[in-house]
Amino acid sequence: MIVVMSPNSSSAQVEQVVQALRDMRTSSRVIQAAGRSVIELLEVGPGFDRARLTALPMVDQVLERPAPVLSVGRQPDQETHEIPLGPRAVVGGKGLAVIAGPCSIECESRLLEIAAAVAEAGAVALRGGAFKPRSSPYTFQGHEERGLEMLAQAREKTGLAIVTEVMCPEHVSRVQPYADVLQVGSRNMHNTPLLTAVGRQPKPVLLKRGWSATLEEFLLAAEYVLLAGNPHVLLCERGIRAHEEYVRNTLALAIVPEIKRLSRLPIIVDPSHGTGRAHLVPPMCRAAVACGADGLLIEVHPEPDQAWSDGPQTLDLEQFRRLMADLKPLAQVCGRAL
Ligand code: PEP
Ligand code: MN
Repeated sequence: MIVVMSPNSSSAQVEQVVQALRDMRTSSRVIQAAGRSVIELLEVGPGFDRARLTALPMVDQVLERPAPVLSVGRQPDQETHEIPLGPRAVVGGKGLAVIAGPCSIECESRLLEIAAAVAEAGAVALRGGAFKPRSSPYTFQGHEERGLEMLAQAREKTGLAIVTEVMCPEHVSRVQPYADVLQVGSRNMHNTPLLTAVGRQPKPVLLKRGWSATLEEFLLAAEYVLLAGNPHVLLCERGIRAHEEYVRNTLALAIVPEIKRLSRLPIIVDPSHGTGRAHLVPPMCRAAVACGADGLLIEVHPEPDQAWSDGPQTLDLEQFRRLMADLKPLAQVCGRAL
């Protein structure tokens, strides 16, 4: 059970509630969340009196189980939280933010070629893995620091913001100086030490939905980052695992309007991992824009069949250019600029 205090309650009022709980032989701990105090009840004693607790001044709510969206929730009339993507772009505003690039960083010339092409087509950020979470230990695991240096060069040449993955808390200080946005991948959405580590540094976090995570678990993962001090969490729907075999994952687009209803965090859609099939990426991009996504994350490579990872779901440069041109009028109809 938790007690949520009203936003402007003083520490004396919080202490008054804690003392009242002690009188009811109930132990508690105070947590600061979204600018207000939340009191978690640990051991509820025999003298516990919920009505008396609710009647105390500045007690806003007494909840049976923690509300998942204390920090990331949306109040009525609250706008979507805008997150900087490097110095020049934002996600969560009127613009549709497209983040594009290869699954893995392979070599400098290839990365620069992709970066130039996606920038020219209208992407605002370059994605690419230097630390790769691969299912098989026998496949390419990423160029690590060398890959990060290539990303930094691509930013210098194109002005694109850099989005790249961190796989464990120890990576955060290595990746952070090179990245504009730290990606927490689907496999790590439940990794709470990593969520706390990216929450303790100031760069925005792109949080991908775990492939078996519920919406509530997804928002609670974001809550960890906010509680650690970082307000900039960009959610990303990347498909969930279902029984289907014609797709790699099932892109659960209904989560986009539902997140918009429940949370003020922006949400983007990754139809590349969300389908695993390049020919399904453009129609799912259109669907994502139509249902209100704040942006897209798309894998792009000059020769998808030669890509070191995720080739079957990757668009080539021309397919990406065409997609961006096709999305422009649709974005406009949906009230978005691209
Ligand atoms: C990726 O974006 O490269 C990636 C590994 O995605 P996911 O974590 O969604 O599988
Ligand atoms: Mn990939």
